[in-house]
Amino acid sequence: MATETRSFRHVVVGGGFAGEHAVRGIRKLDPEGSIALFSLEPHPPYQRPPLSKGLWLGGSEEKLPLRKEGYGEVGVELFLGTEVAHLDRAAHTVTDVSGRVFRYEKLLLATGGRVKQLPFGEDRILYYRTLDDYHALRRRTEAGERFVIIGGGFIGAELAAALAQNGKQVRMVFPEAAVLERVLPGDLARWVTGYYREKGVEVLAGDAPVAVEPVGGSSATGRSRVRLKSGTSLEADGVVAGIGIRPDTRLAEEAGLRVDDGIVVDGFLRTEDPDVFAAGDVARFPYAALGRLARVEHEENAIRQGETAGVNMAGGSERYDLSPMFYSDLFDLGFEAVGDLSSRHRTEALWKEPYREGIVHYLEGDRVVGILLWNAWGRLDEAREVLGSIRRLSLDGA
Ligand code: NDP
Repeated sequence: MATETRSFRHVVVGGGFAGEHAVRGIRKLDPEGSIALFSLEPHPPYQRPPLSKGLWLGGSEEKLPLRKEGYGEVGVELFLGTEVAHLDRAAHTVTDVSGRVFRYEKLLLATGGRVKQLPFGEDRILYYRTLDDYHALRRRTEAGERFVIIGGGFIGAELAAALAQNGKQVRMVFPEAAVLERVLPGDLARWVTGYYREKGVEVLAGDAPVAVEPVGGSSATGRSRVRLKSGTSLEADGVVAGIGIRPDTRLAEEAGLRVDDGIVVDGFLRTEDPDVFAAGDVARFPYAALGRLARVEHEENAIRQGETAGVNMAGGSERYDLSPMFYSDLFDLGFEAVGDLSSRHRTEALWKEPYREGIVHYLEGDRVVGILLWNAWGRLDEAREVLGSIRRLSLDGA
């Protein structure tokens, strides 16, 4: 039986920060045009950052939803728990997994990323990304005390701190030599790793899991055994992993759009198809201050790109020239940053107090390509100005 094709002026695929903020951008210039918003999530768009931070420190779930009013009130039809499976650019349609067809005039791909997964332990490992994952981990923490966290990146570092601050026994396992080693300069990453150990987190750096199995061969207890390459075996009441994401570019690839570790867009967040835009974690965009294409997997980028894409979908011509910030909270340590914080770059650090408060410049030649404000607050605007130049921030802001 042929299904009816529904038509919308704007179709947004992805219900994260980028998708939600695209709706806001569209509504700035187009108060009336119909909008369909598709999300794999069963929940309307909400904030994810508190899932690994504030919610473990007394924060309330009530503050998570990104919109107070109903979506219907702003003329948005929400398709939750719905996977868009197919994009036909010639017909200007997308098709969901159940075969329903939706016509668009302008389309935004804000599909974010899919978690990388280990080739074992499928039913034992919680790949932590969503509100439902938070609930699942909460239940686990109510039932048990011992947790293994796989991965020493953002999720691993934040969750290890969060669970330890909730009195849990936490062990972290990752292949690098130190926590956040890809991001922080080596000496700082090593110091942070020592700090985690002081706070009671057992850090098993330079190791990797090779199997995760139910204890006693049965899942009845919920307990797992994590076997490591080194031969060590860890028992846990819960195993959580954050081992990175892959940008979810499948729709773009299938539709023949340019993909290069992300959907390639121009400064207006348009793909080479003028009716298809991309924003957020999935978009590889011209990073103005760095003078090259980049992809950023953090909150502010998703918010601001979503909004810019929305404005442009509604007929605007706004260029995305922001150097987006990102941040993290790790016990009582915290940072804000802009640019490319790859620890492969040469770095120059200025410390007010070593490893407690300072500024790190990440350099390509003499040019600043990233700035880490380590427990140094209120300096983001200056950091954005310096990014891409050969100037440096000073410690005191003078
Ligand atoms: P990250 O890319 O930050 O970190 C992945 C970590 O997993 C790395 O330490 C990596 O090590 C490690 N890893 C890779 N393979 C294995 C393996 N087989 N066994 C053990 N460890 C492994 O990704 P996350 O999953 O932490 O975060 C997911 C996304 O969410 C990212 O886009 C992140 O930016 C975002 N996020 C951002 C936050 C923020 O802005 N504050 C907070 C939380 C999440 P290696 O480098 O050696 O591969």
